[in-house]
Amino acid sequence: MFPNPVILQSEGLLKYILETGVYPREAETLKELRNATAKHPLGFMGTAPDVGQLIAMLLKMLNAKKTIEVGVFTGYSLLLTALTIPHDGKIIAMDPDRKAYEIGLPFIRKAGVEHKIDFIESPALPVLDKLLEDGENEGSFDFGFVDADKNNYWNYHERLMRLVKIGGVVVYDNTLWGGSVALAEERVSEAKREWRRLSLAFNEAISKDSRLQIAFLSIGDGLIICTRLR
Ligand code: SAM
Ligand code: CA
Repeated sequence: MFPNPVILQSEGLLKYILETGVYPREAETLKELRNATAKHPLGFMGTAPDVGQLIAMLLKMLNAKKTIEVGVFTGYSLLLTALTIPHDGKIIAMDPDRKAYEIGLPFIRKAGVEHKIDFIESPALPVLDKLLEDGENEGSFDFGFVDADKNNYWNYHERLMRLVKIGGVVVYDNTLWGGSVALAEERVSEAKREWRRLSLAFNEAISKDSRLQIAFLSIGDGLIICTRLR
């Protein structure tokens, strides 16, 4: 089964990418977590493995040690981050759904990286606000990954721009929302219209944010990579 949703419109090409360059290098515990996630009714929400590979590359290039994860689900991107950062690295991860996190937890434990993770069972906004109450946290994070409720992406962005250091990176997932951002509204199902509208507004706002260097990518369901410039 392919990770879903997928912007890349050729399943054959995606299969080629995954089978040639991604699956052969995917850690065994990540594979196991991905297979366990596939049994979840919302299993399609797990981060696409090719997106994961890119995130791991960014983490390595940044030498990231301290990261934030907004939206954990069963923890594919969380385990991937924990496997990539150093032994004394730390991830603050937040999600109100602890049950989903517990599906991934045995694989996180098996990988021996649980000590790097501070999972907070909560919506992310109050946690980010709490972090900002302590001035020491400002500009102290190397990396953030946002893959949660799309209506709050801009709220997360404003907070992450203060928590991440200059030169740090924040990655936003699902920014092309199944390709709907490029379709006329009437061609999009009712269920997807609100998310399309939110994605359009977020993408436009971020493209105008002069504090950042950005890259819009058509990988997975669309990804925006931002580097904080000032
Ligand atoms: N990155 C995850 C992975 O690799 O499997 C996938 C995350 S999934 C697409 C979105 C998650 O966002 C869900 O687990 C959901 O519970 C969580 N979520 C929804 N609202 C949230 C909020 N206000 N704060 C934090 N997480 C939230
Ligand atoms: Ca996602």
